[in-house]
Parts: sequence; C-alpha cells; structure tokens
Amino acid sequence: MSILNNLIVKTLPFVPKAIIKSVANKYIAGDSLQDAIRVSKELSKLGASSTIDVLGEFVTSRERSLHEWQTSYSVLDAIHHNNLDAYLSVKLTSLGLDIDQEFGFANVRSLVEKASELGVFVRMDMENSPYTSITLDFYRRLRSEGFNNVGIVIQAYMRRSEEDIRSILSLEPSVRLCKGIYIESPDIAFKHPDEIRNNYKKLLRLLLENGANVRIATHDDRLIDDAIQFVNQNTFDKKQYEFQMLLGVREDRRNEIIQSGFGMRIYVLFGSDWYGYSTRRLKENPQVAGYVLKAMFVRG
Ligand SMILES: Cc1cc2nc3c(=O)[nH]c(=O)nc-3n(C[C@H](O)[C@H](O)[C@H](O)COP(=O)(O)OP(=O)(O)OC[C@H]3O[C@@H](n4cnc5c(N)ncnc54)[C@H](O)[C@@H]3O)c2cc1C
Repeated sequence: MSILNNLIVKTLPFVPKAIIKSVANKYIAGDSLQDAIRVSKELSKLGASSTIDVLGEFVTSRERSLHEWQTSYSVLDAIHHNNLDAYLSVKLTSLGLDIDQEFGFANVRSLVEKASELGVFVRMDMENSPYTSITLDFYRRLRSEGFNNVGIVIQAYMRRSEEDIRSILSLEPSVRLCKGIYIESPDIAFKHPDEIRNNYKKLLRLLLENGANVRIATHDDRLIDDAIQFVNQNTFDKKQYEFQMLLGVREDRRNEIIQSGFGMRIYVLFGSDWYGYSTRRLKENPQVAGYVLKAMFVRG
C-alpha cells in the first residue's frame, strides 16, 4: 500500500461524508430499488445485463436481516415485473448467517425458491475466509434440493480454491471467478499479484474444460486478454461464459468487450448503507483510496 493510500485509509473517519458519497456515486446505482431498475435498463441499452445487489453485509440482528431479505425479495419481483435482463446477488452475512446458520440458510433458500418460480437466477457472493466453507455447503445443499438457479463465487487468491472447484465440478456449477477483495493471511491466500493472476488463469481453464459455466469477473487487462485468447482458441458454447464488471469501473474496456460480441454483466449495487459499504471497501482495497484523494481535488 502506498504511504499516501495508507494515510487516506487511516484518516477516513475524518473525511467528510460528501467526499465519500462523491466517490460512491460512481459505483452505486443509488439509494432505492428504482435506481437499480433504472441503471439496469440503461445497461441493457448498452448491451450489458446486470446482477443486482442490495448493499449490506455482516448483519447482527434478526430484524435487520429480515429487512435485507425483504429488499432482496422485492428485487426478484422487480426483475420479473420489469422483465429486466438481470439476476440477484446476495451476501449471506446480510441474511443472518452470523446470527444463526440455519436462519441464514432458510432466508437464502426462500429467496432461491421464489427466484426459481419467477425464472430468476441468484448468485451467492463469496465473503471473507470464515464464510468460505459454509457458503460452499449452502450451495451444495441448495443444488441437492434441486435448485439449478443458484450460483457461487470462487476467489483466485485463496489457496484452497482449486480443491473447492474440484469438489463442486460434478454439479455442473455456475461460478463467478474473481480475484477476491478481502484481506486474508498469506497462510491461506496468495498475496503476490502474479501468483493471484496465475491461479486465476489456471482455475479458469479448470472450470471451462470441465463444463462449468464461468463468469469472468475482473477488470485486469492481463486476465481479460488471457480469457479472450483462451476462449477463442477453443470451441466453448458462448453461453458457457460471460464477463462481469463492477458498475462505473473500466467502462472503456467494458464497451470494447461488448462490441467484440462477448456477454457482459454489470454488478449493480443499491441501498442506503452507501457510507458503511464504501468505507469498508476503501479499507479493504486501499488502491481505491486514491479515488478519495482525487475526489477531494477534482470537482464535477
Ligand atoms: C462482478 C464482480 C463481482 C465480484 N464479486 C466478488 C465476490 O463475491 N467476492 C469477492 O471477494 N470479490 C468480488 N469481486 C471483487 C474482485 O474480487 C476484485 O477485488 C475486484 O474485481 C478487483 O480485482 P480485478 O480483477 O479487477 O483486478 P485489479 O488488479 O484489482 O484491477 C484492475 C484494474 O481495474 C480497476 N479497478 C478495479 N477495481 C476497481 C474499483 N473498485 N474502483 C476503481 N477501479 C477499479 C483499476 O484500474 C485496476 O488497476 C467482484 C468483482 C466483480 C467485477
């Protein structure tokens, strides 16, 4: 982490909320579901589909997690009624995983069930390492109950990921492959950017060659180029893979990928917890802290 980014992260509590908001605005659709619907429709016009996520994680009260559940439920209805080219992404800790695992499972299960009735897909985001095994367990349970409209995320920085993939390959899984955003110990995670990239490339091949559906979630040119080259050299069905990016990030590259004829899905976040979410992300990924500095000096 650069000294400057480190400094910004340490002084975050003193950064005016308006500055954090101006950074967050680019990455978050808005406070309400209507904002997410609007952004999803705009993305559709650009040739991209979306995955809608309600801001919120690490919820510690049942009341709050039921509120999150209700909001995600409304997202499913909105996707269906507006005929959006979108699905739902959820974080298990927002649905009460930390309060009681079975309560968390019942909440995600009912969302997946409702989504299944509406013909909508649900992806469970992958959070930090205390939740990796339980998220995979929930995925297996849901699939064993016959739900095919649910997917998982694998983080290339985790040393265990190859083994995790092998353990679910027989399910013909839908996997979003990303680098991983949380700070993890070197005992369990690759730390060097090249190690993470090499593992990403290896896992991408493992997934595609074994028939999994892969969602290539990265803004890293080297990984995007590698993935394009790999799929072009092979004859995978185009439905087997798509690219995914975060809202507001690398829009130039996003448009280029769409124009090349590849599927592209954008992660669309909405909700009122933009302050908590943004400061957590800034602390986790200090590279992004540079954007705070930029926002302090560059207006408009
Ligand atoms: C659709 C999607 C879903 C994700 N889901 C999860 C998940 O479930 N669990 C999880 O741990 N992680 C998730 N991530 C985050 C992911 O793990 C990475 O932390 C993040 O995508 C940055 O890694 P990168 O591959 O883009 O490479 P990087 O090397 O970090 O980024 C490459 C370049 O992209 C730009 N960039 C990247 N991120 C940002 C940003 N936030 N703001 C501005 N510019 C940026 C920068 O120019 C950077 O140099 C997801 C990412 C995406 C795109």
